Amino acid sequence: MYDLTLILLAAGNSSRFKIPVKKQWLRIGHDPLWLFVTNRITKMFGFADIIVVAHPEELSFMQQMCDVRIVAGGETRQHSLRNALAHVTTPYVLVSDIARACIDTNLIMRLIDAKECADCIVPALGVNDTVVYGDETIAREAIKRIQTPQLSRTAVLCTALDTPFDYTDESSAIVACGGTRHYVEGDIRADKITRINDLAALECLGAPSLMSFTGNGFDVHPFEEGKQMVLGGVEIESPYGFKAHSDGDVVIHALIDALLGAACMGDIGMLFPDTDNTYKNIDSKVLLKRCVEKIHNFGFVIAHADITIIAQVPKIGPHKEQIRKTLAPLMNLSPTRLNIKATTTEHLGFIGRKEGVGVMATASLHYFDWING
Ligand code: MG
Repeated sequence: MYDLTLILLAAGNSSRFKIPVKKQWLRIGHDPLWLFVTNRITKMFGFADIIVVAHPEELSFMQQMCDVRIVAGGETRQHSLRNALAHVTTPYVLVSDIARACIDTNLIMRLIDAKECADCIVPALGVNDTVVYGDETIAREAIKRIQTPQLSRTAVLCTALDTPFDYTDESSAIVACGGTRHYVEGDIRADKITRINDLAALECLGAPSLMSFTGNGFDVHPFEEGKQMVLGGVEIESPYGFKAHSDGDVVIHALIDALLGAACMGDIGMLFPDTDNTYKNIDSKVLLKRCVEKIHNFGFVIAHADITIIAQVPKIGPHKEQIRKTLAPLMNLSPTRLNIKATTTEHLGFIGRKEGVGVMATASLHYFDWING
């Protein structure tokens, strides 16, 4: 059937999810949840088109991982949906949330089979418990728990969502503007993963891969007279600091590149372009913190890092312990899993001529284990 587009919403901030990983980035095998669910639902039916809505900051990283069209989300679910609808050319659209990861084919087919019945086809479940509103017990037979995915007539949905009022699902918007809603039997497996306790439901899909990933980083900065020298977040007494757009903390820059390398997330220049004036003279500790936050968001845990500082001057030995104690907490890493080494170049080359400092770093990551915490 070539008249139906699938939209998957994956732009959320996981604000009710009390772990550093965003739920769309929890891993099943190697795939982040958003990709796993996209592939899973895509196989259930011959959709004319598939659109995934992403957080604007995650869009380019997500696009590298698949050929599906990815569009930028907005502030709210409704805003995200409007952005996706602008790309839909089919008369019908099926909208689901990535967090409804365990949807099965039967539910999708029930919606598709009923598509002519109304402007919006909705899975609904009854309520088994007693329901009280204020002090009044309500006849629970009259209560319906509405789920997504929902299948809508595209034109009706576009009109219905052209409003500043924020609806929590498509059918409410469609009914509010005079459209019709038809119910099909819902499925408990379509319930949304909202809180950390809901994660057990994902175990039917698989577990995160136990593989670990290694990245390397290398950076050099020349000395500049009259600047404060900062190495590994530690201020070091010296007649010169480093020439740089930021504070020139060459240790942190190499470390960031190692972390990004292990996560396959590009390099420091992509994350913090030196053409951007926000980063002028910035404390590199802030950059490291932001980088680590991103790595955690994308489903990784830092396991280990090893840094080699190559300097003829200054003497690094007396500062190694302080650097370790400064950097480890910024990475949410035990200091016992961060190693700092120092060497010289035996007076050879630009480092030997005391023109600057070079740093090599290696970092290892693994996926966040959402099953065992
Ligand atoms: Mg640098």
